[in-house]
Amino acid sequence: MTIRNVTVLGTGVLGAQIAFQTAYHGFAVTAYDIDDAAIEKAEQTFAWLAARYLATLKGADQAKIDAAMARISYATDLATAAKEADLVIEAIPESLDLKKKVYGELGTVAPAHTIFASNSSTLLPSAMAASTGRPEKFLALHFANEIWLHNVAEVMGHPGTDPAIYAQVVDFARAIDMVPIEIHKEKAGYVLNSLLVPFLQAAGELLVDGIAEPKSIDDTWRIATGSPKGPFEIYDIVGLMTAYHISSMGGEKQKKFAQLIKENYIDKGKLGVATGEGFYKY
Ligand code: NAD
Repeated sequence: MTIRNVTVLGTGVLGAQIAFQTAYHGFAVTAYDIDDAAIEKAEQTFAWLAARYLATLKGADQAKIDAAMARISYATDLATAAKEADLVIEAIPESLDLKKKVYGELGTVAPAHTIFASNSSTLLPSAMAASTGRPEKFLALHFANEIWLHNVAEVMGHPGTDPAIYAQVVDFARAIDMVPIEIHKEKAGYVLNSLLVPFLQAAGELLVDGIAEPKSIDDTWRIATGSPKGPFEIYDIVGLMTAYHISSMGGEKQKKFAQLIKENYIDKGKLGVATGEGFYKY
């Protein structure tokens, strides 16, 4: 089976990017969301993404953008959205119960050959596999924010994923200009977050322990390793609300870090790059 028609469930931050990138690379895309208001928002997001591609993606031009837009159709009914899909990429909110419910319904309305891939950041595919009704055709395909620039796609099956399906999804990732990262075993956090989360936590602990200031910590990392960004610059990109939520669930030092972020930044409206100020001004 060749993948031609791709349906993306959820047109939020990541779903819209996945849908647009897939359409940009020549696939017919159906963007599915819960109601007309969400679809209207998706159309605005696609227009915003079009401008971002033109400004930041090498080789992007208006003709390619127009062609991508023309390949996207919209649906608010799951059966309609899935009826011609060869691949469904799910990017709905990060709730296991919600995802299981949606996969349960999707499994009954999608054609038998359709592959399902989840973009979940934290849930393991094995936790959702049974709910799909086709565990052998289910796996995770995890993108990084701003996928057209940070173009890795982590491909991670569960023990019951058919290797031929896995290989097809790796090929698909390559076809939409991702660098496929093949992950051999289930791992919470994939490769990216298995590296990034402890790194960011270590930086937070250097700050709460009074060892060094954010700028010094970032300078150390950038200058000594040649990395383009230090951990506090990354915190500002991730957003301090997200950093706060994750740190609040950690151990004692992480909780202290969460408190520090809240009092010094969040309570003053400084949420990172998105609001123009976080650890740094933008
Ligand atoms: P988001 O909140 O921006 O978007 C979620 C979208 O899903 C919304 O458009 C919402 O209307 C829609 N939705 C809600 N219920 C739905 C349903 N029942 N059926 C279909 N659509 C529904 O979320 P996001 O940040 O794009 O995250 C989506 C998924 O992608 C999550 O699993 C998350 O872990 C993962 N992810 C996010 C990022 C990121 O940087 N934001 C990165 C990688 C992976």
